[in-house]
Amino acid sequence: MKKYDDIVVGSGISGMTMSLILGMNRRKVLLLEKSPHIGGSMARFYKDGIPFDTGFHFTGGLHKGGILYNMLSILGINDLIEPIFLSEDKANVFIFEAENKHYNVPYGITKIKERLKGYFPEESAAIDSYFDKVKYVCEQTPSMNLHNLMSLHNHINEDSVTLDKVLNELTRNPVLKALLSCFAMCYGVRPDEISFANHSRMCIGLYESVARVKGGGAAFVNTFRTKFKDYAVEVSSGKYIAELADVRDDRVGRFILNTGEEVSCDNCIFTIHPKEILKVLPQKYLSRAFIDRVSSFESSTGFFSVFAALEQGYEEPDFDANIVTILPDYDINQLLDPAHKGPSALVLIKSIEHAGGKTYKVISTFEPSYLEDVEAWKNTKTGSRPGEYQDYKNRKVEITTERIFKAFPQYRGRLKIIDSASVLTFRDYLNNHDGSAYGIKQKIGQYNLVGKLPLRNLYAAGQSSLLPGIIGAMMSSFIVGRSIIKEEQYNKFLSQNLCN
Ligand SMILES: Cc1cc2nc3c(=O)[nH]c(=O)nc-3n(C[C@H](O)[C@H](O)[C@H](O)COP(=O)(O)OP(=O)(O)OC[C@H]3O[C@@H](n4cnc5c(N)ncnc54)[C@H](O)[C@@H]3O)c2cc1C
Repeated sequence: MKKYDDIVVGSGISGMTMSLILGMNRRKVLLLEKSPHIGGSMARFYKDGIPFDTGFHFTGGLHKGGILYNMLSILGINDLIEPIFLSEDKANVFIFEAENKHYNVPYGITKIKERLKGYFPEESAAIDSYFDKVKYVCEQTPSMNLHNLMSLHNHINEDSVTLDKVLNELTRNPVLKALLSCFAMCYGVRPDEISFANHSRMCIGLYESVARVKGGGAAFVNTFRTKFKDYAVEVSSGKYIAELADVRDDRVGRFILNTGEEVSCDNCIFTIHPKEILKVLPQKYLSRAFIDRVSSFESSTGFFSVFAALEQGYEEPDFDANIVTILPDYDINQLLDPAHKGPSALVLIKSIEHAGGKTYKVISTFEPSYLEDVEAWKNTKTGSRPGEYQDYKNRKVEITTERIFKAFPQYRGRLKIIDSASVLTFRDYLNNHDGSAYGIKQKIGQYNLVGKLPLRNLYAAGQSSLLPGIIGAMMSSFIVGRSIIKEEQYNKFLSQNLCN
Protein backbone atom coordinates (compact mmCIF):
# COMPACT_ATOMS: atom_id res chain seq x y z
CA MET A 1 0.00 0.00 0.00
CA LYS A 2 1.45 3.32 -1.07
CA LYS A 3 1.58 5.95 1.63
CA TYR A 4 1.19 9.69 1.07
CA ASP A 5 1.11 12.63 3.42
CA ASP A 6 -1.98 13.96 1.67
CA ILE A 7 -4.49 12.88 -0.95
CA VAL A 8 -6.30 15.66 -2.81
CA VAL A 9 -9.53 14.68 -4.54
CA GLY A 10 -10.46 16.70 -7.67
CA SER A 11 -8.03 18.59 -9.87
CA GLY A 12 -9.91 21.82 -10.58
CA ILE A 13 -8.32 25.09 -9.50
CA SER A 14 -9.02 24.21 -5.84
CA GLY A 15 -7.36 20.80 -6.04
CA MET A 16 -4.39 22.08 -8.05
CA THR A 17 -3.87 24.95 -5.58
CA MET A 18 -4.18 22.63 -2.60
CA SER A 19 -1.70 20.13 -4.08
CA LEU A 20 0.86 22.81 -4.83
CA ILE A 21 0.59 24.41 -1.37
CA LEU A 22 1.14 21.02 0.25
CA GLY A 23 3.89 19.99 -2.19
CA MET A 24 5.74 23.27 -1.67
CA ASN A 25 5.64 22.55 2.05
CA ARG A 26 7.54 19.30 1.58
CA ARG A 27 4.55 16.98 1.71
CA LYS A 28 4.09 13.94 -0.47
CA VAL A 29 0.82 14.42 -2.32
CA LEU A 30 -1.43 12.27 -4.51
CA LEU A 31 -3.83 14.31 -6.66
CA LEU A 32 -6.76 12.16 -7.79
CA GLU A 33 -8.90 13.17 -10.77
CA LYS A 34 -11.93 11.25 -12.02
CA SER A 35 -11.67 12.56 -15.60
CA PRO A 36 -8.95 11.51 -18.01
CA HIS A 37 -7.60 15.09 -17.85
CA ILE A 38 -6.81 17.44 -15.00
CA GLY A 39 -8.05 21.01 -14.64
CA GLY A 40 -11.81 20.67 -14.06
CA SER A 41 -13.55 23.91 -15.03
CA MET A 42 -10.20 25.47 -16.03
CA ALA A 43 -9.88 23.19 -19.06
CA ARG A 44 -10.08 24.67 -22.56
CA PHE A 45 -11.47 22.90 -25.58
CA TYR A 46 -10.82 23.35 -29.29
CA LYS A 47 -13.49 23.14 -31.99
CA ASP A 48 -12.66 23.89 -35.64
CA GLY A 49 -9.21 24.90 -34.39
CA ILE A 50 -10.71 27.66 -32.20
CA PRO A 51 -10.00 27.69 -28.46
CA PHE A 52 -13.00 28.03 -26.13
CA ASP A 53 -13.02 28.23 -22.35
CA THR A 54 -15.17 25.99 -20.19
CA GLY A 55 -15.47 27.62 -16.77
CA PHE A 56 -12.90 30.36 -16.63
CA HIS A 57 -13.35 33.48 -18.74
CA PHE A 58 -12.38 36.48 -16.65
CA THR A 59 -11.48 37.36 -13.11
CA GLY A 60 -10.77 40.21 -10.76
CA GLY A 61 -7.82 40.38 -8.42
CA LEU A 62 -5.01 40.03 -10.99
CA HIS A 63 -3.76 43.61 -10.61
CA LYS A 64 -0.58 44.06 -8.59
CA GLY A 65 -1.44 43.48 -4.93
CA GLY A 66 -4.84 41.99 -5.81
CA ILE A 67 -5.82 38.80 -3.99
CA LEU A 68 -5.34 36.54 -7.01
CA TYR A 69 -2.03 38.21 -7.88
CA ASN A 70 -0.89 37.52 -4.31
CA MET A 71 -2.04 33.91 -4.29
CA LEU A 72 -0.20 33.26 -7.56
CA SER A 73 2.92 34.97 -6.13
CA ILE A 74 2.86 32.70 -3.08
CA LEU A 75 2.59 29.68 -5.37
CA GLY A 76 5.55 30.99 -7.38
CA ILE A 77 3.58 31.11 -10.64
CA ASN A 78 2.74 34.77 -11.01
CA ASP A 79 5.23 35.25 -13.84
CA LEU A 80 3.74 32.34 -15.75
CA ILE A 81 0.18 33.65 -15.81
CA GLU A 82 -0.19 36.63 -18.13
CA PRO A 83 -3.25 38.80 -17.48
CA ILE A 84 -4.99 40.57 -20.35
CA PHE A 85 -6.85 43.42 -18.71
CA LEU A 86 -10.10 44.36 -20.40
CA SER A 87 -10.46 47.91 -21.66
CA GLU A 88 -10.94 49.80 -18.40
CA ASP A 89 -13.63 52.00 -19.80
CA LYS A 90 -16.04 49.43 -21.20
CA ALA A 91 -15.21 46.19 -19.45
CA ASN A 92 -18.87 45.60 -18.69
CA VAL A 93 -21.68 46.63 -20.99
CA PHE A 94 -25.26 46.16 -19.76
CA ILE A 95 -28.01 46.25 -22.35
CA PHE A 96 -31.63 46.53 -21.28
CA GLU A 97 -33.23 44.79 -24.21
CA ALA A 98 -36.72 46.27 -24.06
CA GLU A 99 -35.50 49.88 -24.39
CA ASN A 100 -32.28 48.96 -26.21
CA LYS A 101 -30.51 51.10 -23.62
CA HIS A 102 -26.76 50.51 -23.09
CA TYR A 103 -24.80 51.24 -19.91
CA ASN A 104 -21.00 51.03 -19.98
CA VAL A 105 -19.60 50.25 -16.55
CA PRO A 106 -15.81 50.51 -16.20
CA TYR A 107 -13.69 49.03 -13.45
CA GLY A 108 -11.90 50.86 -10.65
CA ILE A 109 -14.26 51.82 -7.84
CA THR A 110 -13.76 55.58 -8.28
CA LYS A 111 -14.46 55.29 -12.01
CA ILE A 112 -17.51 53.08 -11.53
CA LYS A 113 -18.95 55.54 -9.04
CA GLU A 114 -18.33 58.48 -11.39
CA ARG A 115 -19.91 56.66 -14.32
CA LEU A 116 -22.95 55.57 -12.34
CA LYS A 117 -23.40 59.06 -10.93
CA GLY A 118 -23.31 60.34 -14.53
CA TYR A 119 -26.15 57.98 -15.42
CA PHE A 120 -28.09 58.54 -12.19
CA PRO A 121 -27.13 61.97 -10.77
CA GLU A 122 -30.00 61.94 -8.27
CA GLU A 123 -28.70 58.64 -6.81
CA SER A 124 -25.27 59.96 -5.87
CA ALA A 125 -25.67 59.27 -2.13
CA ALA A 126 -26.97 55.75 -2.74
CA ILE A 127 -24.02 54.96 -5.01
CA ASP A 128 -21.47 56.24 -2.47
CA SER A 129 -23.14 54.37 0.32
CA TYR A 130 -23.26 51.09 -1.65
CA PHE A 131 -19.52 51.15 -2.40
CA ASP A 132 -18.66 52.25 1.15
CA LYS A 133 -20.55 49.23 2.43
CA VAL A 134 -18.81 46.87 -0.01
CA LYS A 135 -15.40 48.21 1.07
CA TYR A 136 -16.34 47.96 4.74
CA VAL A 137 -17.31 44.29 4.39
CA CYS A 138 -14.02 43.46 2.69
CA GLU A 139 -11.99 45.32 5.30
CA GLN A 140 -13.79 43.34 8.01
CA THR A 141 -13.11 40.00 6.32
CA PRO A 142 -9.80 38.51 7.50
CA SER A 143 -9.70 35.88 4.78
CA MET A 144 -9.53 38.65 2.13
CA ASN A 145 -6.02 39.36 3.39
CA LEU A 146 -3.72 36.38 3.02
CA HIS A 147 -1.51 37.62 5.85
CA ASN A 148 -4.41 37.56 8.30
CA LEU A 149 -5.99 34.46 6.94
CA MET A 150 -7.69 33.09 10.02
CA SER A 151 -9.98 30.28 9.16
CA LEU A 152 -13.20 31.59 7.78
CA HIS A 153 -14.92 34.90 7.37
CA ASN A 154 -15.71 36.75 10.60
CA HIS A 155 -19.46 36.93 10.97
CA ILE A 156 -20.51 40.55 10.62
CA ASN A 157 -23.94 42.21 10.46
CA GLU A 158 -23.80 42.29 6.67
CA ASP A 159 -23.77 38.46 6.70
CA SER A 160 -27.31 38.60 8.06
CA VAL A 161 -28.87 40.92 5.52
CA THR A 162 -29.57 40.19 1.87
CA LEU A 163 -28.19 42.16 -1.05
CA ASP A 164 -31.77 42.82 -2.08
CA LYS A 165 -32.65 44.39 1.27
CA VAL A 166 -29.59 46.64 1.27
CA LEU A 167 -30.35 47.84 -2.26
CA ASN A 168 -34.03 48.43 -1.46
CA GLU A 169 -33.00 50.62 1.48
CA LEU A 170 -30.58 52.59 -0.71
CA THR A 171 -32.60 53.26 -3.84
CA ARG A 172 -35.91 52.88 -5.60
CA ASN A 173 -34.32 53.15 -9.03
CA PRO A 174 -34.83 49.74 -10.72
CA VAL A 175 -32.07 50.28 -13.30
CA LEU A 176 -29.46 51.17 -10.68
CA LYS A 177 -30.56 48.22 -8.56
CA ALA A 178 -30.21 45.91 -11.55
CA LEU A 179 -26.73 47.26 -12.35
CA LEU A 180 -25.56 46.87 -8.76
CA SER A 181 -26.91 43.35 -8.39
CA CYS A 182 -26.10 42.02 -11.84
CA PHE A 183 -22.77 40.49 -10.83
CA ALA A 184 -25.01 37.89 -9.17
CA MET A 185 -24.56 36.15 -12.54
CA CYS A 186 -20.94 35.56 -11.44
CA TYR A 187 -22.01 33.50 -8.44
CA GLY A 188 -25.45 32.32 -9.50
CA VAL A 189 -27.63 33.26 -6.50
CA ARG A 190 -30.65 35.57 -6.39
CA PRO A 191 -30.09 38.97 -4.68
CA ASP A 192 -32.81 38.10 -2.16
CA GLU A 193 -30.95 34.90 -1.19
CA ILE A 194 -27.32 36.06 -0.98
CA SER A 195 -25.99 37.99 1.99
CA PHE A 196 -24.73 41.48 1.24
CA ALA A 197 -21.41 40.41 2.78
CA ASN A 198 -20.83 37.48 0.41
CA HIS A 199 -21.97 39.55 -2.57
CA SER A 200 -19.37 42.17 -1.60
CA ARG A 201 -16.60 39.59 -1.08
CA MET A 202 -17.22 38.16 -4.53
CA CYS A 203 -17.64 41.46 -6.37
CA ILE A 204 -14.77 43.50 -4.92
CA GLY A 205 -12.19 41.89 -7.22
CA LEU A 206 -14.29 42.61 -10.30
CA TYR A 207 -14.85 46.20 -9.20
CA GLU A 208 -11.10 46.72 -8.91
CA SER A 209 -10.01 45.16 -12.22
CA VAL A 210 -11.23 42.69 -14.82
CA ALA A 211 -8.80 40.52 -16.75
CA ARG A 212 -8.73 37.47 -18.96
CA VAL A 213 -5.63 35.33 -19.03
CA LYS A 214 -3.48 34.62 -22.07
CA GLY A 215 -4.18 31.02 -22.99
CA GLY A 216 -7.31 30.95 -20.78
CA GLY A 217 -7.77 28.39 -18.02
CA ALA A 218 -5.33 26.08 -19.83
CA ALA A 219 -2.51 28.47 -18.88
CA PHE A 220 -3.22 27.67 -15.22
CA VAL A 221 -3.49 23.94 -15.85
CA ASN A 222 -0.18 23.81 -17.75
CA THR A 223 1.56 25.94 -15.16
CA PHE A 224 0.39 23.82 -12.23
CA ARG A 225 1.22 20.61 -14.08
CA THR A 226 4.78 21.84 -14.70
CA LYS A 227 5.19 23.05 -11.12
CA PHE A 228 4.06 19.71 -9.66
CA LYS A 229 7.19 18.17 -11.15
CA ASP A 230 9.36 20.31 -8.85
CA TYR A 231 7.68 18.80 -5.80
CA ALA A 232 6.43 15.43 -4.62
CA VAL A 233 3.02 15.85 -6.23
CA GLU A 234 1.86 12.77 -8.12
CA VAL A 235 -1.08 13.28 -10.47
CA SER A 236 -3.37 10.36 -11.14
CA SER A 237 -6.25 10.84 -13.55
CA GLY A 238 -9.15 8.50 -14.31
CA LYS A 239 -9.21 7.64 -10.60
CA TYR A 240 -11.43 8.31 -7.63
CA ILE A 241 -12.01 6.98 -4.13
CA ALA A 242 -14.46 4.10 -4.20
CA GLU A 243 -14.38 3.30 -0.48
CA LEU A 244 -13.02 4.57 2.80
CA ALA A 245 -11.96 1.65 4.98
CA ASP A 246 -10.40 0.81 8.39
CA VAL A 247 -11.96 3.66 10.32
CA ARG A 248 -10.48 3.77 13.82
CA ASP A 249 -10.61 6.63 16.32
CA ASP A 250 -12.53 8.62 13.73
CA ARG A 251 -9.68 8.36 11.23
CA VAL A 252 -9.77 6.62 7.87
CA GLY A 253 -6.94 4.09 7.53
CA ARG A 254 -7.29 2.88 3.95
CA PHE A 255 -8.48 4.60 0.78
CA ILE A 256 -9.64 2.12 -1.85
CA LEU A 257 -9.65 3.50 -5.39
CA ASN A 258 -11.93 2.57 -8.29
CA THR A 259 -9.01 0.68 -9.82
CA GLY A 260 -8.71 -1.55 -6.73
CA GLU A 261 -5.46 0.14 -5.63
CA GLU A 262 -5.24 0.94 -1.92
CA VAL A 263 -3.45 3.93 -0.47
CA SER A 264 -3.06 5.52 2.92
CA CYS A 265 -2.42 9.10 3.97
CA ASP A 266 -2.40 11.49 6.91
CA ASN A 267 -5.02 13.79 5.37
CA CYS A 268 -7.44 13.57 2.49
CA ILE A 269 -8.87 16.80 1.13
CA PHE A 270 -11.99 16.68 -1.03
CA THR A 271 -12.41 19.60 -3.43
CA ILE A 272 -15.54 18.20 -5.07
CA HIS A 273 -19.25 18.94 -4.64
CA PRO A 274 -20.38 18.41 -0.98
CA LYS A 275 -23.10 15.97 -2.06
CA GLU A 276 -20.46 13.90 -3.87
CA ILE A 277 -18.33 13.95 -0.68
CA LEU A 278 -21.34 12.70 1.26
CA LYS A 279 -21.65 9.72 -1.11
CA VAL A 280 -18.10 8.58 -0.25
CA LEU A 281 -18.23 9.06 3.54
CA PRO A 282 -19.22 5.92 5.49
CA GLN A 283 -22.74 6.78 6.70
CA LYS A 284 -22.47 5.08 10.09
CA TYR A 285 -19.95 7.70 11.24
CA LEU A 286 -22.18 10.61 10.29
CA SER A 287 -24.82 12.30 12.38
CA ARG A 288 -28.33 12.80 11.00
CA ALA A 289 -27.80 16.57 11.38
CA PHE A 290 -24.69 16.45 9.20
CA ILE A 291 -26.40 14.39 6.50
CA ASP A 292 -29.44 16.69 6.55
CA ARG A 293 -27.25 19.79 6.34
CA VAL A 294 -25.34 18.58 3.30
CA SER A 295 -28.45 17.16 1.64
CA SER A 296 -30.25 20.47 2.00
CA PHE A 297 -27.71 22.48 -0.01
CA GLU A 298 -29.34 23.88 -3.16
CA SER A 299 -27.69 24.35 -6.55
CA SER A 300 -26.39 27.64 -7.85
CA THR A 301 -27.39 28.49 -11.39
CA GLY A 302 -26.02 26.54 -14.35
CA PHE A 303 -25.77 27.82 -17.91
CA PHE A 304 -26.88 27.09 -21.42
CA SER A 305 -23.94 28.18 -23.58
CA VAL A 306 -23.41 28.91 -27.24
CA PHE A 307 -19.86 29.00 -28.61
CA ALA A 308 -19.38 31.10 -31.74
CA ALA A 309 -16.80 33.09 -33.69
CA LEU A 310 -16.96 35.85 -36.26
CA GLU A 311 -16.13 34.67 -39.79
CA GLN A 312 -12.43 34.80 -40.62
CA GLY A 313 -11.64 37.78 -42.83
CA TYR A 314 -14.47 39.90 -41.40
CA GLU A 315 -12.81 43.00 -40.02
CA GLU A 316 -14.62 44.42 -37.05
CA PRO A 317 -12.47 47.31 -35.89
CA ASP A 318 -14.65 47.99 -32.86
CA PHE A 319 -14.66 44.44 -31.56
CA ASP A 320 -14.11 44.91 -27.83
CA ALA A 321 -12.97 41.98 -25.74
CA ASN A 322 -15.44 42.53 -22.93
CA ILE A 323 -18.48 41.26 -21.08
CA VAL A 324 -21.91 42.18 -22.39
CA THR A 325 -24.92 41.40 -20.23
CA ILE A 326 -28.26 41.51 -22.01
CA LEU A 327 -31.21 41.90 -19.64
CA PRO A 328 -34.85 41.54 -20.66
CA ASP A 329 -35.95 42.93 -17.31
CA TYR A 330 -34.67 44.83 -14.27
CA ASP A 331 -35.64 42.13 -11.80
CA ILE A 332 -32.48 40.07 -11.20
CA ASN A 333 -34.30 37.95 -8.59
CA GLN A 334 -36.67 36.78 -11.27
CA LEU A 335 -33.92 36.30 -13.86
CA LEU A 336 -32.08 33.96 -11.47
CA ASP A 337 -35.16 32.00 -10.45
CA PRO A 338 -35.29 28.43 -11.79
CA ALA A 339 -39.09 28.82 -12.08
CA HIS A 340 -38.76 31.83 -14.39
CA LYS A 341 -40.10 30.99 -17.82
CA GLY A 342 -39.83 34.31 -19.69
CA PRO A 343 -36.80 35.66 -21.59
CA SER A 344 -33.58 35.08 -19.67
CA ALA A 345 -30.53 37.13 -18.93
CA LEU A 346 -27.78 36.47 -21.45
CA VAL A 347 -24.09 37.14 -20.85
CA LEU A 348 -21.81 37.44 -23.89
CA ILE A 349 -18.09 37.07 -23.33
CA LYS A 350 -16.21 38.49 -26.28
CA SER A 351 -12.54 37.68 -26.64
CA ILE A 352 -9.72 37.65 -29.14
CA GLU A 353 -7.97 34.28 -29.33
CA HIS A 354 -4.90 33.13 -31.22
CA ALA A 355 -4.35 29.56 -32.36
CA GLY A 356 -2.59 27.84 -35.25
CA GLY A 357 -1.27 31.15 -36.59
CA LYS A 358 -4.78 32.61 -36.84
CA THR A 359 -6.68 35.19 -34.81
CA TYR A 360 -10.28 34.55 -33.85
CA LYS A 361 -12.96 36.87 -32.53
CA VAL A 362 -14.79 34.58 -30.19
CA ILE A 363 -18.21 35.03 -28.58
CA SER A 364 -19.36 32.64 -25.86
CA THR A 365 -22.78 33.10 -24.28
CA PHE A 366 -24.12 32.12 -20.87
CA GLU A 367 -27.82 31.98 -20.11
CA PRO A 368 -28.94 30.88 -16.62
CA SER A 369 -30.33 27.35 -16.81
CA TYR A 370 -31.11 24.55 -14.38
CA LEU A 371 -31.42 20.79 -14.26
CA GLU A 372 -35.22 21.29 -14.31
CA ASP A 373 -34.91 22.66 -17.88
CA VAL A 374 -33.48 19.36 -19.12
CA GLU A 375 -35.37 17.06 -16.74
CA ALA A 376 -36.47 14.77 -19.58
CA TRP A 377 -32.87 13.83 -20.43
CA LYS A 378 -31.23 13.99 -17.00
CA ASN A 379 -30.58 10.23 -16.94
CA THR A 380 -28.82 10.26 -20.31
CA LYS A 381 -25.13 10.75 -21.02
CA THR A 382 -23.33 13.13 -23.39
CA GLY A 383 -22.99 11.47 -26.78
CA SER A 384 -26.07 9.24 -26.43
CA ARG A 385 -28.94 11.69 -26.06
CA PRO A 386 -32.09 11.48 -28.22
CA GLY A 387 -33.02 13.72 -31.16
CA GLU A 388 -35.47 15.75 -29.03
CA TYR A 389 -32.57 16.89 -26.88
CA GLN A 390 -30.73 18.09 -30.00
CA ASP A 391 -33.96 19.90 -31.06
CA TYR A 392 -34.06 21.60 -27.65
CA LYS A 393 -30.46 22.73 -28.08
CA ASN A 394 -31.05 23.91 -31.65
CA ARG A 395 -34.05 26.00 -30.55
CA LYS A 396 -32.02 27.60 -27.77
CA VAL A 397 -29.16 28.36 -30.17
CA GLU A 398 -31.57 30.03 -32.63
CA ILE A 399 -33.08 32.27 -29.94
CA THR A 400 -29.65 33.16 -28.56
CA THR A 401 -28.29 34.00 -32.01
CA GLU A 402 -31.22 36.34 -32.72
CA ARG A 403 -30.59 38.11 -29.41
CA ILE A 404 -26.91 38.57 -30.31
CA PHE A 405 -27.95 40.07 -33.68
CA LYS A 406 -30.41 42.39 -31.97
CA ALA A 407 -27.59 43.75 -29.80
CA PHE A 408 -24.96 43.65 -32.58
CA PRO A 409 -26.77 43.87 -35.98
CA GLN A 410 -23.39 44.01 -37.77
CA TYR A 411 -22.73 40.35 -36.86
CA ARG A 412 -25.71 39.01 -38.85
CA GLY A 413 -24.44 36.70 -41.59
CA ARG A 414 -20.93 36.85 -40.11
CA LEU A 415 -21.27 34.76 -36.99
CA LYS A 416 -20.40 31.10 -37.14
CA ILE A 417 -22.02 28.97 -34.45
CA ILE A 418 -19.51 26.33 -33.48
CA ASP A 419 -21.13 24.43 -30.61
CA SER A 420 -23.48 24.63 -27.66
CA ALA A 421 -23.67 23.14 -24.18
CA SER A 422 -26.55 22.54 -21.81
CA VAL A 423 -26.46 22.06 -18.06
CA LEU A 424 -26.13 18.33 -18.79
CA THR A 425 -23.07 18.89 -20.96
CA PHE A 426 -21.38 20.80 -18.13
CA ARG A 427 -22.48 18.16 -15.61
CA ASP A 428 -21.00 15.30 -17.60
CA TYR A 429 -17.77 16.95 -18.73
CA LEU A 430 -17.00 18.41 -15.32
CA ASN A 431 -18.16 15.40 -13.27
CA ASN A 432 -20.09 17.83 -11.17
CA HIS A 433 -23.18 16.92 -9.26
CA ASP A 434 -25.90 18.78 -11.10
CA GLY A 435 -24.45 20.96 -13.87
CA SER A 436 -24.48 24.04 -11.63
CA ALA A 437 -21.75 26.50 -12.53
CA TYR A 438 -20.75 27.48 -9.02
CA GLY A 439 -21.44 24.41 -6.88
CA ILE A 440 -23.90 24.97 -4.07
CA LYS A 441 -25.99 28.10 -3.76
CA GLN A 442 -24.38 30.40 -1.19
CA LYS A 443 -27.55 31.20 0.73
CA ILE A 444 -27.75 33.67 3.58
CA GLY A 445 -27.32 32.01 6.98
CA GLN A 446 -26.02 28.80 5.45
CA TYR A 447 -23.26 26.81 7.10
CA ASN A 448 -21.08 25.47 4.26
CA LEU A 449 -18.93 22.37 4.31
CA VAL A 450 -15.37 23.60 4.81
CA GLY A 451 -12.34 22.33 6.68
CA LYS A 452 -12.51 19.26 8.90
CA LEU A 453 -15.18 16.67 8.13
CA PRO A 454 -16.66 14.33 10.78
CA LEU A 455 -13.77 11.88 10.21
CA ARG A 456 -10.68 13.61 11.52
CA ASN A 457 -8.27 13.07 8.64
CA LEU A 458 -10.78 14.23 6.02
CA TYR A 459 -11.27 17.84 4.91
CA ALA A 460 -13.50 19.77 2.49
CA ALA A 461 -12.36 22.64 0.29
CA GLY A 462 -13.42 23.84 -3.18
CA GLN A 463 -15.81 26.34 -4.70
CA SER A 464 -18.77 25.25 -2.54
CA SER A 465 -16.78 25.71 0.68
CA LEU A 466 -16.18 29.40 0.87
CA LEU A 467 -17.06 31.35 -2.25
CA PRO A 468 -17.22 30.34 -5.92
CA GLY A 469 -15.15 31.60 -8.84
CA ILE A 470 -11.48 30.90 -9.11
CA ILE A 471 -10.62 33.34 -6.33
CA GLY A 472 -13.03 31.78 -3.82
CA ALA A 473 -12.00 28.27 -4.85
CA MET A 474 -8.27 29.05 -4.41
CA MET A 475 -8.89 30.87 -1.12
CA SER A 476 -10.60 27.77 0.27
CA SER A 477 -7.42 25.80 -0.46
CA PHE A 478 -5.25 28.40 1.27
CA ILE A 479 -7.49 28.23 4.34
CA VAL A 480 -7.59 24.43 4.52
CA GLY A 481 -3.90 24.18 3.53
CA ARG A 482 -3.03 26.45 6.43
CA SER A 483 -4.78 24.21 8.90
CA ILE A 484 -2.90 21.18 7.55
CA ILE A 485 0.59 22.68 7.48
CA LYS A 486 -0.13 24.63 10.69
CA GLU A 487 0.08 28.33 11.38
CA GLU A 488 3.82 28.72 11.94
CA GLN A 489 4.79 26.90 8.74
CA TYR A 490 2.07 28.74 6.81
CA ASN A 491 3.35 32.13 7.93
CA LYS A 492 6.88 31.17 6.91
CA PHE A 493 5.60 29.95 3.56
CA LEU A 494 3.77 33.22 3.03
CA SER A 495 6.61 35.52 3.95
CA GLN A 496 9.09 33.53 1.83
CA ASN A 497 6.94 33.75 -1.28
CA LEU A 498 4.81 36.88 -1.08
CA CYS A 499 6.67 39.76 -2.64
CA ASN A 500 4.69 42.95 -2.18
C1 LIG B 1 -19.76 27.89 -17.55
C2 LIG B 1 -18.99 28.43 -16.39
C3 LIG B 1 -18.41 29.68 -16.47
C4 LIG B 1 -17.66 30.18 -15.40
N1 LIG B 1 -17.00 31.37 -15.55
C5 LIG B 1 -16.15 31.78 -14.58
C6 LIG B 1 -15.33 32.92 -14.77
O1 LIG B 1 -15.33 33.54 -15.83
N2 LIG B 1 -14.50 33.31 -13.75
C7 LIG B 1 -14.44 32.63 -12.58
O2 LIG B 1 -13.66 33.03 -11.69
N3 LIG B 1 -15.19 31.54 -12.36
C8 LIG B 1 -16.03 31.09 -13.34
N4 LIG B 1 -16.77 29.95 -13.15
C9 LIG B 1 -16.69 29.28 -11.84
C10 LIG B 1 -15.35 28.57 -11.67
O3 LIG B 1 -15.07 27.80 -12.81
C11 LIG B 1 -15.40 27.67 -10.46
O4 LIG B 1 -15.85 28.37 -9.31
C12 LIG B 1 -14.04 27.05 -10.12
O5 LIG B 1 -13.28 26.79 -11.25
C13 LIG B 1 -14.30 25.76 -9.36
O6 LIG B 1 -13.10 25.10 -9.10
P1 LIG B 1 -13.09 23.77 -8.23
O7 LIG B 1 -11.72 23.25 -8.25
O8 LIG B 1 -13.70 24.03 -6.90
O9 LIG B 1 -14.10 22.76 -8.99
P2 LIG B 1 -14.02 22.10 -10.44
O10 LIG B 1 -13.36 22.98 -11.42
O11 LIG B 1 -15.44 21.68 -10.72
O12 LIG B 1 -13.11 20.83 -10.24
C14 LIG B 1 -13.54 19.68 -9.60
C15 LIG B 1 -12.74 18.51 -10.19
O13 LIG B 1 -13.05 17.35 -9.44
C16 LIG B 1 -13.21 16.26 -10.34
N5 LIG B 1 -14.03 15.26 -9.64
C17 LIG B 1 -15.35 15.27 -9.42
N6 LIG B 1 -15.69 14.21 -8.67
C18 LIG B 1 -14.55 13.53 -8.40
C19 LIG B 1 -14.24 12.37 -7.64
N7 LIG B 1 -15.18 11.69 -6.99
N8 LIG B 1 -12.95 11.96 -7.57
C20 LIG B 1 -11.95 12.63 -8.23
N9 LIG B 1 -12.20 13.74 -8.96
C21 LIG B 1 -13.48 14.19 -9.03
C22 LIG B 1 -13.86 16.87 -11.54
O14 LIG B 1 -13.70 16.05 -12.69
C23 LIG B 1 -13.10 18.20 -11.63
O15 LIG B 1 -11.92 18.06 -12.38
C24 LIG B 1 -17.53 29.42 -14.20
C25 LIG B 1 -18.10 28.16 -14.12
C26 LIG B 1 -18.79 27.65 -15.20
C27 LIG B 1 -19.34 26.25 -15.14
